[in-house]
Amino acid sequence: MIKAFISTLLITPAFFAVALLFLPWVEDVPAGLEMVRHYASYPLLILTMLLSLSFNQTRLFFVLYLTAIFLLLILGDVKLPEFFSPIDQYVFIQLVFLFYLLTVLFFLFSKECDIFSLRGFVRLIFCTALPVIPLLLAGEHTFFNPDWLSVTIFPQEISQKLPLPDFVVAFYLLTMCLLLISLLLKPAAVESSFFGLLAGAGLSLYFFPEMAKVEFIFSFALVLVLIFILQNSFHLAYRDELTGLAGRRALREQMDKLSADYSIAMLDIDFFKKFNDRYGHDVGDQVLKMVAQHIGKAGGGSKAYRYGGEEFTLVFTGRNVAEVKPVLETLREAIADTAFKVRSKTRKRAKSQGKRKSDTTQKSVKITISIGIAGNQGTDNTPEDVIKIADKALYRAKKKGRNRVST
Ligand code: GH3
Ligand code: MG
Ligand code: MG
Repeated sequence: MIKAFISTLLITPAFFAVALLFLPWVEDVPAGLEMVRHYASYPLLILTMLLSLSFNQTRLFFVLYLTAIFLLLILGDVKLPEFFSPIDQYVFIQLVFLFYLLTVLFFLFSKECDIFSLRGFVRLIFCTALPVIPLLLAGEHTFFNPDWLSVTIFPQEISQKLPLPDFVVAFYLLTMCLLLISLLLKPAAVESSFFGLLAGAGLSLYFFPEMAKVEFIFSFALVLVLIFILQNSFHLAYRDELTGLAGRRALREQMDKLSADYSIAMLDIDFFKKFNDRYGHDVGDQVLKMVAQHIGKAGGGSKAYRYGGEEFTLVFTGRNVAEVKPVLETLREAIADTAFKVRSKTRKRAKSQGKRKSDTTQKSVKITISIGIAGNQGTDNTPEDVIKIADKALYRAKKKGRNRVST
């Protein structure tokens, strides 16, 4: 979890730092490339919108859809009726930015919904209609006084140095902080993409009205969104969601690559069915996560996978069975010696009111695992054969009384 948060936090600035390196040249591109620079965002928007839909990330889809409309307006790619032409481009752009931030916040705190549902339809109408507000507010025919955008919030010295009104900067920083908090609590592709989009939007606004730079940075931001979406799809395909370990598909690909000496260990939690029956499936999930954490840190050059259910696999490349046995004994002991704290809900009847009351209590439980090992050393066995032999060894470990390693 922390890894995903840190990767977003590192990738985003690193990515825009690269964009900034190219910035001195983007204004003087040859005539043919000018068109590319101007229109590059649109195919990227269509691609990211289609991908977000195919991964059921409708919140991201709507934000991208709104981004597309705002971009059409900012880059002047739609002809608006005279009535809407903003009197002050700066006021207009700041209002667009504020409404954009508000929309991102709205989608940050809302749930995914089916695009073909009533809620999806309402959201689509909302995103289509929203740009009318900044257009009207920044237009000639309004009583809106843009002065309130210039209210001073920061100390004078800081305020003078800011390229944008204090209010806009403060709201931007607040939104970014909320995004970071939600990323820390629940790292997900949608939140990472929102973060990348807003980082790009903030940077673009900094360079406004140098439109070549705005166009370039925005395309960059959309490439970043594309990376986050693809990174997520890779994650979905290769990672086990519950434990965060690599999944069965990743193991299969690793097995195709195994050649020289290697050893494979099959690990299985003891009496896990009983555990689930006693404490419930949710507590069982907590234990699976905790055991997976130990297995993921087994060391000895191992790579950990969740094989399925309460079974795990460790692949040791370049190691023979004798070398990996002590590593596995240490792992087995470490798990057996850990007092797993499980939160369990106990329902009590409160005497006075006769109502049911839930109490969450912490309880220590002992968990053990059994392990079977096999290697390919001195045989023609395929990785599939080695797994089968390790499985048989695991069966023997269970037979002999569990909480042990068998070869
Ligand atoms: P043994 O010591 O022989 O391995 O006994 P066992 O009870 O661990 O083995 P068995 O194969 O009979 O049961 C495995 C149980 O693991 C059954 C299932 O409820 C539980 N299980 C499998 N996947 C999950 C999961 O993702 N979450 C939870 N909570 N339980 C799971
Ligand atoms: Mg099992
Ligand atoms: Mg088991």
